[in-house]
Amino acid sequence: MIYISKRFERLIEKLKKIQNDVSSEVSEIINYFLKYFTLDYEKILWILRLENENKKEEIYKVADIVTRTLTTDFITLKGIIEFTNYCNKSCNYCGIRVQNNCIKRYRIPEEEILKIAKNGVKMGLTTIILQGGEDEYFSDETLERIIYKIHHEYKTSVSLSIGERSKEAYKRFKEAGASKVLLKHETINKKIFNEIHPDKDYEYRIELLDYLVYLGYITGSGNIIGLPGQTEKDIADDIIFMRDHRIKMIGMGPFISTHNTPLEGYPDGSADLTLNAYAATRLTIPYALMPATTALGTLKRDYQFKALRSGCNVIMVNITPDKYRKNYNIYDEKIKVEFYETAERILEEGLKLSPYTYRRILEAKRNGYSYERI
Ligand code: SAM
Repeated sequence: MIYISKRFERLIEKLKKIQNDVSSEVSEIINYFLKYFTLDYEKILWILRLENENKKEEIYKVADIVTRTLTTDFITLKGIIEFTNYCNKSCNYCGIRVQNNCIKRYRIPEEEILKIAKNGVKMGLTTIILQGGEDEYFSDETLERIIYKIHHEYKTSVSLSIGERSKEAYKRFKEAGASKVLLKHETINKKIFNEIHPDKDYEYRIELLDYLVYLGYITGSGNIIGLPGQTEKDIADDIIFMRDHRIKMIGMGPFISTHNTPLEGYPDGSADLTLNAYAATRLTIPYALMPATTALGTLKRDYQFKALRSGCNVIMVNITPDKYRKNYNIYDEKIKVEFYETAERILEEGLKLSPYTYRRILEAKRNGYSYERI
């Protein structure tokens, strides 16, 4: 006997309901998805290349139904602390690369990181993301201590976005209480990867990702959309790679051309292609946690919210104090995704917030937002 879950039954019902109103191509995609619960390379490519506005709206709607039926019907807010902009790497696209002498470098002291995290949890965040350049100043022991405190004392989940630490280090961070890691593979096209990462090892990055999955982390990866020389076929390969490597969180953002980097002056990635990529990814990796990225919001602010109706179910709000944040310019004109403003906008858009976040926001509103705003 084949067991069909209630969620899946609801999904079939909802998709069948809209199937008569969509184009034959999108109807075919629905049939394929309901049969295989993923998409094949050709269908991913078809979505990535979509330009027809009506068909785009149809496929975004399908992706939205899948998101809301199979994952959560609310948007999860995660709080990011950019704790250091020192980096020993030379990624050609990145504004905090080691060779960039035009930015002011900072490290947030340990006690201050903890204070920011604690305040974030009090405000209503359920995940704290620690992100930084690759900075050995923060030893494994220090990070272990920070992770332990945030997870065990503030009772919240800790996600790491700190690049290529040793396997041993990631094992220790897991034991200390980190449950998620985001390590973007950036592009699965080896030639492009090597061209833009003079000092990164393609094979090691993938090996490390597989190891993180093996360790039991909710493992995140992702790609940059619109890198010089990249085609839609490469992006389809990225999506298939993430599915086949059991990636559960997906960070996909457009390339943003940045001052004082070797890729300064190259055209930015396309916001439309990024939306198409979200929809294609949702239908290929249906249960993924997928943020509507700050990079997309930086290119087109409205698209970050449109993305929440096109397959995305997460948004990262920035809780780095402004005196540091203004120097975390991994790309030019990076916007601040502010906690309260974003939460209000999500509600205005008719979307929901997770119950804990929503409760804390209502409480803050009743108190005239008298909490320390971050
Ligand atoms: N160092 C860590 C790592 O390599 O995973 C995390 C920090 S890194 C600055 C975070 C992400 O920023 C990278 O994975 C990359 O995709 C993104 N990024 C940096 N510069 C960018 C740019 N110019 N355009 C788009 N994304 C960029």
